[in-house]
Amino acid sequence: MARVVVLGAGLGGVIAAYNIRKEVPKQDEVIVINENSFYQFVPSNPWVLVGWREREDILVDLAKPMKKRHVQLIVGAAKKVDPDAKSVLMSDGTSVPYDYLVIATGPELAFDDIEGLGPESGFTQSVCHIDHAQSGRAAFEALCEDPGPAIVGAVQGASCFGPAYETAMIIETELRKRKIRDRVPMTFVTSEPYIGHLGLDGVGDTKGLLESEMRDRHIKWITNARVKKVEATRMLVEELNEDGTVKTEHDLPMKFSMMLPAFRGVAAVRDIEGLVNPKGFIITDQHQRNPKYPEIFGIGVCIAIPPVGKTPVPVGVPKTGFMIESMGNAVAENIGALRKGREATHEATWNAICIADFGDGGVAFIAQPQIPPRNVNWSVSGGWVHTAKVAFEKYFLRKVRTGHAETFYENVALGLLKTHKIKH
Ligand code: FAD
Repeated sequence: MARVVVLGAGLGGVIAAYNIRKEVPKQDEVIVINENSFYQFVPSNPWVLVGWREREDILVDLAKPMKKRHVQLIVGAAKKVDPDAKSVLMSDGTSVPYDYLVIATGPELAFDDIEGLGPESGFTQSVCHIDHAQSGRAAFEALCEDPGPAIVGAVQGASCFGPAYETAMIIETELRKRKIRDRVPMTFVTSEPYIGHLGLDGVGDTKGLLESEMRDRHIKWITNARVKKVEATRMLVEELNEDGTVKTEHDLPMKFSMMLPAFRGVAAVRDIEGLVNPKGFIITDQHQRNPKYPEIFGIGVCIAIPPVGKTPVPVGVPKTGFMIESMGNAVAENIGALRKGREATHEATWNAICIADFGDGGVAFIAQPQIPPRNVNWSVSGGWVHTAKVAFEKYFLRKVRTGHAETFYENVALGLLKTHKIKH
C-alpha cells in the first residue's frame, strides 16, 4: 500500500487527485491537503468584483466530491514540506507522511515587492482570490458612488495577464451599464512589451485584437511599465525603453485600481535546496517530477518555467488551465505507472486555451504549444466569447461538484478547434 498526498486543491490539485484515484491500486490512500474546505473557480473572480457573481456561486464544497471519489480531504495549512523525512508538517503541529507528494499550491502573491501594492496593506485591489474580489467589490462600489480615474493592469514580474485585460474590460462594461463611464478615465498599465503579449509573445493576432478593444473602449495604455509606488490617490510608474532605460515617468491619479502582482512559491516549499528555484517555484522535469526528490511532483502555477524571451521589464509565462489539467493528468498516469512497477514516462502537452471575457464580448485563443513557434496559433474576438465563458464556468463547476474534471479543458479546446475548422 502507498500513500499519495496532493498539496493544494485548486485547479491542478483537484484534477490530479480525481485522476490519481483512478490510476493507483484501490488499497492506496489518496489524501488532499487544502487550506480551505472549498474549491474556488478563480476565473470568475473579476465577475465577483463588479457584482455579477456572489461568493457562493463560484465555490464548491470539496467534502462530498472527495468522499465520492474515495479521496481523504484534510482541511488545514501546510507549514513546511520535509522532503528528507517524506512528510508534510501542518500548521497545527501534526504531520502527514507520504510515499508520493504532488505539490499544487498555486502561487504566493508578491504584493510586498512594491510599496502600496495589494488589498491588505496597500491601495490596489486583486482578483486572484475570492476574498480579494469580495473586498474589491466594495472599492468598486465606492468608485461608482464617486467616479474618478481607474487603473488596471499587471506589474513587473507578473505572469498572469489575461485576467488583467478581462478585469479592465468587465469594469468598463459595468461602468457603461451604470452610465458613469464618461466620468471614469481608464488606463491599462502593464509590464508587457506590447499590448496582447500576455507573457507568450502574443497568440495569433492578440496584439491587434486587444489594442483594437482598448481603442474601442477608450482605455489608454502604458506598456514596458514598472510600478514604483502606489499611494491612496496616485500610482507612480516608470515606462522603459527597449534597453531598459527610463523613457517617461508617469504620475497617474487614481480612485480605483486592480493590479495583478508577481507570483512566487509558497512559504511551505520556499528555500528547500533542490526542490525549488530562487523564487520558490518547484523544479520539475518533463514528467513533472523533481530531479532531486523523484517521489515529489509539481503541477500548476507553483512550478518553475523560464520566460519566453528577454523583455525590458521582466514578465513571466502564464500557467493556464489547459496545461495545468494536462500536468495533473500526466502526474496521475506517472504515479499509476510507478505503482505498477513501470517507469514514469508521461508528459504534459503544455498547450494554452484562453476564453477571455470582456463583459459583452471577448477574445479566445488557442496556442499549441504554448511557447512559440507553434503548430496552432489562433485567436478570434466576438460577442459569443462572453456566452462561452458563462457556459465554461457552469460546466466546470458541475464537473468539480460531481468529481469528474479530468479532461475538461481538452474537450473545450477540441470543441473550439472543430467549430472554427482549425487544423491541429
Ligand atoms: P490554485 O488554483 O491557486 O490552487 C492552489 C491551492 O493550494 C489553493 O486552494 C490554496 O489554498 C492551496 N494552498 C496553497 N498553499 C497551501 C498550503 N500551504 N497548505 C494548504 N493549501 C495550500 N487560466 C485559464 O486557463 N483560464 C482562465 O480563464 C483563467 N483565469 C484566471 C483568472 C485569474 C483571476 C487568475 C489569477 C488566474 C486565471 N487563470 C486562468 C490561470 C490559472 O488557471 C489559475 O490561476 C488556476 O487557479 C491555477 O491553478 P493551481 O492549481 O495551480 O493553483
